[in-house]
Parts: sequence; structure tokens; C-alpha cells
Amino acid sequence: MVNGLFRKDAGRRPWRLSAKLLIASSIATVIGFSTICASVMLDMRRGEEELARQTLENLASSIDADINRNIELYDLSLRNVATNLVMPEIEKVSKEIRHLILFDHAATARHFGAIQVFDAQGKLIIDAASLDPVPEDRSDEEYYFVHRDKPDVGLYMSRPMLHRSAYSIVLSRRITDADGGFLGVVVGSIRFSYFHELFGRLTLNPGDTITVLRRDRTVIMRTPFDLDIIGKNLAERKTWNPANLKEGGNFAGVGPVDPTPRLYVRSASTSLFFVVVGKPLASVLSLWHGEVIRIGAVMLALILFVLGTTLFLAREIGRRAEAEEKLEELATTDALTGLKNRRKFDSEIDLEWRRAARNQTPVAVLMIDADHFKSYNDTFGHQAGDQVLVGIAICISDSVRRAGDCPARYGGEEFAVLLPGLSAVEAFTVAEIIRLKVEQWAEDPSVTTVSIGVASMTPTAVIDWSYLIEAADKALYAAKANGRNQSVVAAIPQLALVA
Ligand code: GH3
Ligand code: MG
Ligand code: MG
Repeated sequence: MVNGLFRKDAGRRPWRLSAKLLIASSIATVIGFSTICASVMLDMRRGEEELARQTLENLASSIDADINRNIELYDLSLRNVATNLVMPEIEKVSKEIRHLILFDHAATARHFGAIQVFDAQGKLIIDAASLDPVPEDRSDEEYYFVHRDKPDVGLYMSRPMLHRSAYSIVLSRRITDADGGFLGVVVGSIRFSYFHELFGRLTLNPGDTITVLRRDRTVIMRTPFDLDIIGKNLAERKTWNPANLKEGGNFAGVGPVDPTPRLYVRSASTSLFFVVVGKPLASVLSLWHGEVIRIGAVMLALILFVLGTTLFLAREIGRRAEAEEKLEELATTDALTGLKNRRKFDSEIDLEWRRAARNQTPVAVLMIDADHFKSYNDTFGHQAGDQVLVGIAICISDSVRRAGDCPARYGGEEFAVLLPGLSAVEAFTVAEIIRLKVEQWAEDPSVTTVSIGVASMTPTAVIDWSYLIEAADKALYAAKANGRNQSVVAAIPQLALVA
């Protein structure tokens, strides 16, 4: 019970400095590694995106170039017709010769419709496929109006339409006389089969899209093929607007057709049409996601391991320090009374003596001895004597509570109290408090009392603290000789002077 008197609070102790340092260094290491890892992962992501963007760019520009080359070839034929038709000599030759002059073989290539010429009223006058064509009237077609009303249109690309019973885009040019007058239109078509074949040659992954749009953003062709979207104008849709998707630019997000987020890349073409190639963001980053999960899992396991080990070691440091403290306390505490033992008292007085010497302040010592203790033991037994010693210890420790005061069991039934900074008079007061407390506690002065020797002095360079103990001891003897149950102050000034 009493043993625990002077123990420090036994509750949860705060982390020691070394444990804190260990935790801090581990956390710093974890944060450092995580940051490096995150930065590498982000770099990898940027790399994957860049690679996908480049691949899509190449795909878009090669599709663009293929379509462009075919349109240019076909346009050459259309121009040929438009310029040759206005030559006056053409009127004079036979239909067969006129066919040979007007139509070359390029216009009869696969996927290209036969070139036709319509007059200023939209009536079919020449057809590359036949010398005697069936009459046709195209005066209600958009390309007819466009060329009739706008002389400067040049090559005109129609919306996708059913042209001569095949889905096609119609390419047309105006036929103009020498004065700029409207003579009619020359019309050709590129069938959808061309796009199907072009896209069929490419290796596409699921979710990849290729869209060919006219400059006004009317969808000409799209793969995966969807008739519902062909011919739709996307100009009103928010995504893929000119700010999002500039020529040669890219846009990551949901496109105008389906809700799958993709990386879309637009060809750099500035001609009649452009190509947009899309790849699902999930597949752009699928490799990266795999890496993130793998590296992330390893990192997480490492972090948990490091933190777990750190906490374990930090706890261990705390436990060991606590055990050391307990051991030290045990080594410096008197088992019976819980007061400091003589070894601790000696080291404390040594410390305080040197401090007092530096500061030129007094150090006081009380030597306390139980009176007639032998006879008490003989009368009540050793066990009862022990209990009295414990009682005296409590009376002493209750009376000295300042930091730096050191009450100790000096040996047997003798106690010593170190009182740094106290003069002889002040120390005497403390001694009397202790003496009276013991007297009061024992209830009967004939049972247990103590005699106390008091000594106080300011250390000088040549005096050792054993002089002070000796002086207090002498005063104690004087108290015993004077009849016990009293405090006597040692005549220190003389001692000091002698020294
Ligand atoms: P006085 O000091 O007043 O002159 O008389 P005294 O009887 O106390 O004399 P002395 O100091 O010579 O006796 C010391 C006695 O203290 C001897 C021993 O029986 C008792 N004693 C010493 N240590 C212990 C202890 O740890 N427990 C108990 N019960 N008694 C102790
Ligand atoms: Mg004694
Ligand atoms: Mg005694």
C-alpha cells in the first residue's frame, strides 16, 4: 500500500522522444515513397495517354488522307467534265467521242458512281454509264440549288443520301459558261461501300469509333455503323464543338453519340470533311489501371508493414523505458516504507550540495531516530515495530512536499530528510512538525516518539556534505541525551568557521 506512495502516475504514458522520432521518420519515409510512387504512376498515365493520342492521330490522318485522295481523284474527273463540256467543239462530235473526251477511267473505279451531267433546269443530259440515259430530273436536289445560286461553291459534298439506289455522298461541280452563267451541274457519287471497305481494313478494338463528318458537322459515316446517326448534324450538340475539338486537336469525355467516355482525336484536315477517331478512356488506361492496382497493392502492403513494425518498435521502446524506470525506482526505494533509500539520499544530497555551492544557498538535513525502539520491538514484536516505521515514514513524507526535498530511510529505525534551501530555523520548524505528527499519530507519547537532529549550512569550497550529516547526527545525539522526543539544532556556524 505504502510502496505505491511515491510512484509516478501508473496510467498510459506518452510516447518517448526516441519513439516519436522513430514514428516521425517512418511516416516521412512512407510519405516520401508514396509521393515518388504517385508521381511515377502519374507520369505513366501521361505516357499512356500520349501514346494513345499519337496512335489515334496517326489513324485519323491516314483515314483522312485516303478519303481525301479518292475525292481529289474523283474531283479531277468532275473538273474534266465541267471544263471540256463548255468547249464549242464538243457539240460537233458524236456521243461516243464525247464520252471518250469527258469521262476517263478513274470515274469508273469501284465504289464510285457514274458521272452525270444535268442542265440548267436540272434535267439529265449526259450519263457516263449510258449513251442513251433514262430521263431524270434533279432540279429538286440540294446540290442543284447550291450550284445554281452560289457560283463560288467549287466542289460540293452532299449529305449522305440514297443516290441511284445506293447510300452515297454526292460530289458535284458547277458548269459555268465563259461569262459565268449557270449551265448545269456535273455530279458523281462515292458509295458507302467505299467507307465500309476502308474501315474494314483497319484493326479496331471494341468500343473504338471512327466518324467522318462534313465541315458543317453532318455525320457522313460512322463505324460502328448506325443508320440513325448517319446524316445527323452534330453542330447543335455540346461536345465536339469547335472549342473542344479543334483541327488536329483532341477531347476526352462523352461524345455526341453514345455515353461512353472516349479520347477523341480530330484529323488536321481543313477540306470538305474531317475524321474523328475515338477510343474508350477505359481501354486507353486499362494497362495503367492494372499497374496502379499492382503497384498500389504492393505499396499498401509495404506501408502497413512499415507502420505496423514502427508502432510495435515504438511500443517496445516505451515498455523498455518504463521497465528501466521501474527498476531504477526499485533500486532507489526502501521496500518497507516506500521512502528513498540511503543510496538515493546520498546521491541527492551530493547533487543539492553542489547546486547550493554554486548558488550560495543553504542546505538543511534532519536526522530522525525512533526513541526506545528496541524496547518497542521487544514489547510488541518486530512486525508491530515495522508498522511503526511505516507510520513514521508517512508522518515524514506528509510534512515535506516541496520539489527537491528528499525524505529517506537512512537505516534501521533512522530516517534522514534533505531540505535544500532551508535555514536552520526553517528546518527546525519542519522537524517539529514531523515530531508532533508522530506524537499525534502514536496517540500516546510513551509508545512512539522521535528525536530529531537539525543542521543547516551554506556549502563552501572546502566543506564536504558529510560535515552536515555529522552535525545533524551530533544534534540527534544531543536530543537523545536531552531526554528524547525533541528537535535540536546543530551549532553549524562554529563548524563552518572551523572549516
Ligand atoms: P534510542 O534510539 O532511543 O536510544 O533507543 P533505541 O532502542 O531506538 O536504540 P537503538 O537505536 O540502538 O535501537 C535500534 C533498534 O531498532 C534495534 C532494532 O530492534 C530496531 N530496528 C532496527 N531496524 C528495524 C527494523 O527494520 N524493524 C524493526 N521492527 N525494528 C528495527
Ligand atoms: Mg538508532
Ligand atoms: Mg532509536
